Amino acid sequence: MSQSSIRIDSTYFLTIFRQLAAIGQGSSQTGYMRVAWSEAEREAHRWFRQTAEALGLTVFQDQAGNSFADFVPPGVSDTLPRLALGSHLDSVPHGGTFDGGYGVAAALAAAKALIVESRALRRPFRIAAFTDEEGPRFGTGLLGSKAVAGLLDMDHVRVAQDRDGVALREAMAHYGFDLDALPQAERLKESFLGYLELHIEQGPRLERQGLGVAAVTDITGIRQVAVRFTGKTNHAGTTPKEERQNALRAAAETIMQFSAYVDGTDQLTANPGRIDVHPNATNVVPGFCRLDWDIRSPDATRLDEAVEALSNMAERAGASFGVAVSVETFHDVVPCPMHEPWVESIERAASRLNLASTRLVSWAGHDAGVLGRVMPAAMIFIPSQNGISHAPEEFSSDQAMLDGVRVLAETAYGLLTEEA
Ligand SMILES: [Zn+2]
Repeated sequence: MSQSSIRIDSTYFLTIFRQLAAIGQGSSQTGYMRVAWSEAEREAHRWFRQTAEALGLTVFQDQAGNSFADFVPPGVSDTLPRLALGSHLDSVPHGGTFDGGYGVAAALAAAKALIVESRALRRPFRIAAFTDEEGPRFGTGLLGSKAVAGLLDMDHVRVAQDRDGVALREAMAHYGFDLDALPQAERLKESFLGYLELHIEQGPRLERQGLGVAAVTDITGIRQVAVRFTGKTNHAGTTPKEERQNALRAAAETIMQFSAYVDGTDQLTANPGRIDVHPNATNVVPGFCRLDWDIRSPDATRLDEAVEALSNMAERAGASFGVAVSVETFHDVVPCPMHEPWVESIERAASRLNLASTRLVSWAGHDAGVLGRVMPAAMIFIPSQNGISHAPEEFSSDQAMLDGVRVLAETAYGLLTEEA
């Protein structure tokens, strides 16, 4: 087994990770508050600038509020595209410390190690800190990476507002950003060689297998589908049983039928997560019901088949209860395979570090799943304790985090020293 080539400064990584973790940190009950376009999130971007500049990197922001820090090794052309390493600095409300922030701090620690080896590097690299990956406030998840990839839906972004009626446009303007300039962020796309993201798994698989890292093979596709059942609202006692058009019963039947289909299908998940019943009264036959599904698969064909199956099952359930059915996909994320040569690079890097690795599908969305549609992209996962994330209990040990940083730096070193 060949030796690894690069040394991580563990103390440096743990120091900057804890600096970042302090920004937006509430109590152990309230968790983390670093939602995009909040004071805490912008403070995290200021921290990024200071930390990256202290390493000697050239820091800039784009029109979307993403932060970047470039390093061009001595004797290497400044015009070459950059290998980007990074993650996102925003969190969900009441989230954890590790989702996103870990990957940014890790990328900076990898940068410090790569700079020491800069004479061996044949390409420039870039540390990336994306904004609004989570999207809970404005419903604009993956905004930063979509802007860079040129995949932003400006019609959606222009009307986006939060629950208090604050428009995304206003929130951006407060920090000096112009919403109408968002499409200009795509100019940066050509300066990326590709994107490598280190992230917590957010699931239990690595921990259960006792493994240190995973190379991600695919970022899941997501369809969010609303099924509307329209029956007839009427008295719960006096309406003859055979004449009832109960929309909720049709929805319940659909949940049972489609869940059984999903349970019997590989590489497919579906969650009946939300239901609105009208009039939602105990003594009234419900005349209307909306049932929302979150359906995921790394395979686009499987997603198409699943939505088709859901439609057919809902139609049949509706027919048996005298209820009309309509099906609408209101959110659609295309699945994204990771760049296979880089997946193998991650596995080789783990092997050089004597770390056992596996391959995993990411069942959560990530910036790598957006950028991977327009450039080579790959992801590394480390274990999440008890598989918990998006909650204050989110945790990964220092050892697990440092192993991830080593794999990230080792993988990047391999890609940056390859013959051009
Ligand atoms: Zn994340």
